[in-house]
Amino acid sequence: MTAVLHVDLDAFAENVRAVRRSVAPAAVMLVVKDDAYGHGLAPIVRRAAREGVTWFGAFDVATGARVRDILGPGVRIFSWIAASDAEVDAAIAADLDLGIGDADLLEDVAVAARRRAARARVHLKIDTGLHRNGVRPEDWPRFVSRARELQEDGCLDLQGLWSHIAEASDRDDDDARAAFELATRQWEEAGIRPGLRHLSASAASFARPEFRYDLVRIGAFCYGIRPAGGPSEAELGITPISRLEAQVVSIDGDTVSLDVGALDGLPSILGGTVSVSTPAGQRRLVSVGVRSVVEGWAGAAPGDRVAVYGGGSASATDLAEAIGTIGEEIAVRVSPLVPRVYAGE
Ligand SMILES: *Cc1c(COP(=O)(O)O)cnc(C)c1O
Repeated sequence: MTAVLHVDLDAFAENVRAVRRSVAPAAVMLVVKDDAYGHGLAPIVRRAAREGVTWFGAFDVATGARVRDILGPGVRIFSWIAASDAEVDAAIAADLDLGIGDADLLEDVAVAARRRAARARVHLKIDTGLHRNGVRPEDWPRFVSRARELQEDGCLDLQGLWSHIAEASDRDDDDARAAFELATRQWEEAGIRPGLRHLSASAASFARPEFRYDLVRIGAFCYGIRPAGGPSEAELGITPISRLEAQVVSIDGDTVSLDVGALDGLPSILGGTVSVSTPAGQRRLVSVGVRSVVEGWAGAAPGDRVAVYGGGSASATDLAEAIGTIGEEIAVRVSPLVPRVYAGE
């Protein structure tokens, strides 16, 4: 394997600072699902903690527990996918904050907390239209009053309410926000002390101040991944933090094959749609797969390095746009076998 993903942690830290400035006074939860969007969990969360980030969004419990192992006590780790009793137990053991959007799961968490003589910190999720887990608005008042009972029993600690929005159209997001506001009023009517509210991810957090509430959950922009079809990195004040580098392994005239590992996992439909940066300039990537081939490059030598993305050439989002997807999709599909090499660790 000669391919490498270079990750610039100083650039990451700059992005984190830019994000914090943009969304202040809301706090930032750094989302680290999918191995920190392919950049490698441990170096990313360590650097973020050094920059003063105190909230981490882990998606699954196993990732949350890893973040706890890496950073120890003193940070808050939010996980919103726990299904089995074993996961709920592990979440409480790792002192995670749990996002709960299901009445049965709420009961399971209460039972698990009681068994461990713990108080589980939970954030209740209202479904504001995405229909991706979350309590339906018609069930919400009953759900929050049950949660309040369980808090009074001493097994839950209600931290706040949250939801997730599509960030695809302002109109749908506005509808979602109206549902979120209603859910907040019902939370207050249930006599629960106000908690943290969090609704938006990267795009809406930047573009729409009214979506920020107390806390924003940010992944993409901290990693310098701009939205496909959206504002540029310069407009957002962020920079890509990684560069995927492949090496030349064989040459046939002006047709050059790259280290297969470099592209393992990347969508094969990128072949024929994008260019890569070679020492001789931009060259067309004609195929991606078992053999990844660049054409029209005379004078290449084995070991020459090619930037597939990043490092001033096309970004992950540029590649994504060529095939109608999003930059995150490119970033998370870099093979886990490709070593991550860090600057600024
Ligand atoms: C992935 C995710 C985020 C972060 O989204 P970005 O667009 O990468 O900032 C926030 N909240 C939830 C629930 C997510 O799944």
